[in-house]
Amino acid sequence: MSLPVVAIVGRPNVGKSTIFNRLAGERIAIVEDQPGITRDRIYSRSEWNGQEFHLIDTGGLEFGEKDEILQHIKNQVELAIEEADVILFVTNGRDGVTSADEEVAQMLHRTQKPVVVAVNKVDDRKYEDAMYDFYRLGFEHVIAISALHGTGTGDMLDCLVSYFPEEIEEDYDEDTIRVSLIGRPNVGKSSLVNAILGEERVIVSPVAGTTRDAIDTPFEHEGQSFVLVDTAGLRKRGKVYETVEKYSVIRALKAIERSDVCLIVIDGERGIAEQDKRIAGYAHEAGCACIFVVNKWDAVEKDDKTMNRFQEKIRHAFQFMPYAPILFVSAKTKQRVHQILPMVTEVAEHHALRITTSVLNQVISDAIATTPPPSEKGKRFRIYYATQVAVKPPTFVLFVNDPELAHFSYLRYLENQLRAAFQFFGTPIRIRLRKKN
Ligand code: GDP
Ligand code: GDP
Repeated sequence: MSLPVVAIVGRPNVGKSTIFNRLAGERIAIVEDQPGITRDRIYSRSEWNGQEFHLIDTGGLEFGEKDEILQHIKNQVELAIEEADVILFVTNGRDGVTSADEEVAQMLHRTQKPVVVAVNKVDDRKYEDAMYDFYRLGFEHVIAISALHGTGTGDMLDCLVSYFPEEIEEDYDEDTIRVSLIGRPNVGKSSLVNAILGEERVIVSPVAGTTRDAIDTPFEHEGQSFVLVDTAGLRKRGKVYETVEKYSVIRALKAIERSDVCLIVIDGERGIAEQDKRIAGYAHEAGCACIFVVNKWDAVEKDDKTMNRFQEKIRHAFQFMPYAPILFVSAKTKQRVHQILPMVTEVAEHHALRITTSVLNQVISDAIATTPPPSEKGKRFRIYYATQVAVKPPTFVLFVNDPELAHFSYLRYLENQLRAAFQFFGTPIRIRLRKKN
């Protein structure tokens, strides 16, 4: 299921990133603790009253060096109109309505999407009247806030959430493998989609699957059903912002949420970029099975060591996902493209793998016997038993004496032992601890 998207728009200095940080703050701090995973400061998964959503600060997107401010704002708004479910239009209560605000309003009036106007920097009640001026922008919801102090932000969130679309149940059955291709612009995602769907034994369904804002392509290969998620997002539509590196993350986020398997496409010719790591990090965190697909291999000048060297670079850059296999392909010459779907099927099996409790506990107790947990301040970490609570990805709960005593390195050791026993090829696994009373 893909989460609703809220996009923040508005001219510079009205407080967009302050709002973003306020709504995203805690989450960013937690995630940045994870080694090797970097994050954009302009996307975040946020939550209000149990309702999760994505938040995008369009002000953080750069569209080009010579962008005039107004053009820049226009690009932001265009992107928001296209991608968001609800638009948060931020203005500055101290400046009153400016001509740039009016320009933004005009653009926003051309969309059907709900718009909430936040009149920011109303830090003091005495400025509250300033907000009435903003009704002339023609939107129903005008809310005075102070991003600095947090006042009014609750009302603002209530209002945004009230416009979230109803969840649409997807009707793909359990056995259908949902696959997405994610990556920066121009790495060859759409070329790969065409190469995969053009394969001889691939039978594309005449009926496309549609969800809220995506078009999916269902197909079959060797008796297995697949659906390529969000093929519409991969089609070139020629909008300015689609060539923006960071834009690719929005599409990736939406696709990742709906996928079992993510093909992380990397441009073999240009090499690995920071943005690739972010996109891969999102797929890993979401618990998708992943395959690195290094494309344009035809265009790479090679000797007998080139592939190994590239492999090492991937392992180094993506240390948080050593489980993901790597394929070197060319959408252009179709080299090794036929290996993609069999590998997708294989990692999807591991992603959905269920281990019986007895076998699981045998592996865990063997692991403990081989290397007992170290003791901490005279107290020893004890694991009583384990159980698998979920698949996609495989998730285990260990019942322990005290979760606080668990060491990161010991959990890593247990993960490695689980992988040695069951492999979990291409899939992240999760280990949770629960105190047994
Ligand atoms: P952006 O360009 O729209 O992302 O704006 P920023 O979030 O960077 O904010 C611009 C400036 O306004 C910064 O100096 C903020 O500290 C300040 N600011 C943001 N929100 C408030 C607010 O609610 N009250 C006051 N007084 N200043 C604010
Ligand atoms: P997307 O933005 O990731 O969907 O990338 P496209 O599929 O539009 O490809 C971007 C460019 O890379 C196009 O000019 C393609 O022709 C080119 N391209 C894609 N795959 C390959 C490949 O395997 N080899 C070479 N040499 N070029 C490719």
